[in-house]
Amino acid sequence: MRYLILSDIHSNLEALEKCLATSDGRYDRVLCLGDLVGYGPDPNAVIDRLQPLAAVIVRGNHDKACCGLTDAEDFNYLARAAAEWTQWQLTPDHFEFLRNLPNGPIQIDGIEIVHGSPIGEDEYIFDSLGAVEAFQSDPAPLVFFGHSHHQGGFVLTADKRLQSVHLTPIKDGEPTSITLQENARYLINPGSIGQPRDGDGRAAFAILDTEKKQIDFYRTPYDMAMTQEKMRKADLPEPLITRLEVGR
Ligand code: ZN
Repeated sequence: MRYLILSDIHSNLEALEKCLATSDGRYDRVLCLGDLVGYGPDPNAVIDRLQPLAAVIVRGNHDKACCGLTDAEDFNYLARAAAEWTQWQLTPDHFEFLRNLPNGPIQIDGIEIVHGSPIGEDEYIFDSLGAVEAFQSDPAPLVFFGHSHHQGGFVLTADKRLQSVHLTPIKDGEPTSITLQENARYLINPGSIGQPRDGDGRAAFAILDTEKKQIDFYRTPYDMAMTQEKMRKADLPEPLITRLEVGR
């Protein structure tokens, strides 16, 4: 089975469509690690696109804030402004859809998916300390997480060494692969579709092939100018618009 793993779409329809076009024919099922909405200009359209497509979706912190499950108090003012804007845009059906998204972790076919970390949906895994805590708290051999918007992740080798996943500069639309080793454990972030923060503004996703025991990481440019234009028209905060270019 080949799983397309999508995360942190953040209402960016152009980036989502480009990732779906790039991955077309290369996967059987779709898993989504949350944050469908927040920041970007197309919350309803992104939900419409993902809802029929994804076999499983776990909710993210922005999904919760945008449908009133949390009050976004711990958000910075830019994220909060975008969450409030999103709340006004959502149709009642989409609002309800977000409210009913399940909390991770969810297990499927020997894979575990979470938004932030197995420790908690709002926790970040940024560094080796966060990775060690996650590995200690959860015995799952393969966990996909999002939330940090950094593509890559961590490996705990069979002889208990912690390594980070190094992805050489990835060519547009071409996979950079890692092979899953026997008895090693993995925390993998497919990267963010709609607002990457690892210094590369191109949309990011990953595909897991459970038979080949391989994960392919992808980056692809998309029509960012269109997304930015929509954001300006919607009066979304300027720093959220410019950060797309720098991928921070
Ligand atoms: Zn996010």
